[in-house]
Amino acid sequence: MNIRAFLGILVCRAVKLAAKILRRGGTAKPGELAAKVCPDLAQILAKDVRIIMVTGTNGKTTSSRIIEQGLLDSGADYFANRSGANLLSGVTTTLVENSTLFGKAKHQCAVIECDEAAFRTVAPLVQPEVILVTNLFRDQLDRYGEITHTLSNIRQGIRGVPDAVVCLNADCSLTASLAGDISNRCLFYGLGEALGGGEPPAVSDASHCIHCKAEYTYKYRTYGHLGHFVCPACGYERPGTDVTVTKLLSKDADSSTVVMEAGGLSRTVRVNLPAVYNIYNAAGSSAALMAFGMDPDRAMQCAENFQCGFGRMERFDLNGTVIRMILVKNPAGCNQVIEYLNGLNEAYLPVFLLNDNAADSRDISWIWDADYEKFAAAYQGEVVVSGIRADDMALRLKYAGIPAQKLTVERDYDALLDRVSHQDKPVFIIPTYTAMLDIRTRLAHRCGSAEFWE
Ligand SMILES: [Zn+2]
Repeated sequence: MNIRAFLGILVCRAVKLAAKILRRGGTAKPGELAAKVCPDLAQILAKDVRIIMVTGTNGKTTSSRIIEQGLLDSGADYFANRSGANLLSGVTTTLVENSTLFGKAKHQCAVIECDEAAFRTVAPLVQPEVILVTNLFRDQLDRYGEITHTLSNIRQGIRGVPDAVVCLNADCSLTASLAGDISNRCLFYGLGEALGGGEPPAVSDASHCIHCKAEYTYKYRTYGHLGHFVCPACGYERPGTDVTVTKLLSKDADSSTVVMEAGGLSRTVRVNLPAVYNIYNAAGSSAALMAFGMDPDRAMQCAENFQCGFGRMERFDLNGTVIRMILVKNPAGCNQVIEYLNGLNEAYLPVFLLNDNAADSRDISWIWDADYEKFAAAYQGEVVVSGIRADDMALRLKYAGIPAQKLTVERDYDALLDRVSHQDKPVFIIPTYTAMLDIRTRLAHRCGSAEFWE
């Protein structure tokens, strides 16, 4: 190891230690400064680590955690980064934390979640063995620009890692199109049928062919623009799949039981998370683990022991009231949550929290693209809204058809938690990212549970 790398590690550790003494959190700063001292530090530290890298718009964190569970169940020696540390700086910090002072890796494998925009730089540096691309949806336009720009970022990143096995969501026309532009071995995963659920809302993100701009037709759709797409003009079509969910056997508020097929095997899998998008996350994670060398039977079971966490359907018990938290950050994810709520067979209290901090997306116009009308059409009870942009959220729900007298704006989080803690029905808190961080801390404090990540 060269002297610069050694200095980079020292800087990273010193800044981390200082932050700890000053009781300041943050995983980005140490890595950022270390990379200034040694620009190729991440590359040096990742050299002897077998990495599975996860990117895409939705499902990165959940998929990363499911893959972790698969590795944990198989006894693998691994580490992982946190969702807030998915840029080069955070990945560098994570790599330093998991190596010795002299740059020797402490673990054999790693699961690294990577931001879509940062992927172009990070992937070629750390040379993952497996890359999972979950899907591409419109997300935080103010940050990423057009969706095709994100696609191009990911494509360039993959081109810098020609030996990686790339796992692609076959049902996402944008993601699947990557296969045509890269020389890597690809594994496809997807849903073999629509798995029930009514006609999803109109396709808004990728209704037209990525190659020739003709409008896709669909043999079936699952949600958003995902499904068996066919371009009638140029023939571009959903590719065949290596990991396929062929049947939905049952579903409830906490899980789905499906039939999954891979490597010539078919098995019943209980995905220990609800809703269709998590079936995708389970299938994608299984594909990634197979690409990593795990036998298909074991890989397909990765979501069975999975425990929810950190705002992804995380469950809290507050004085006997069951509270579930579901993070939303864009229209597609939000529509999935609405679909899930509408499918519940019990009374519940929904709480929508809208913030517009940088990590949430400054531009909150996305709420007008989400299908709250569908929610309003199915829901009769009281709705609580909060967050920095509570009034915008209330206005959106009013337009969707929730009567004003059913809407409560509760700005104060403590008052909000007082209110929800006296419910005789389950509560669903649906926050944007920074709202989730805030309310989660208070909620965890009240419930006396340890911080998930700390
Ligand atoms: Zn076409």
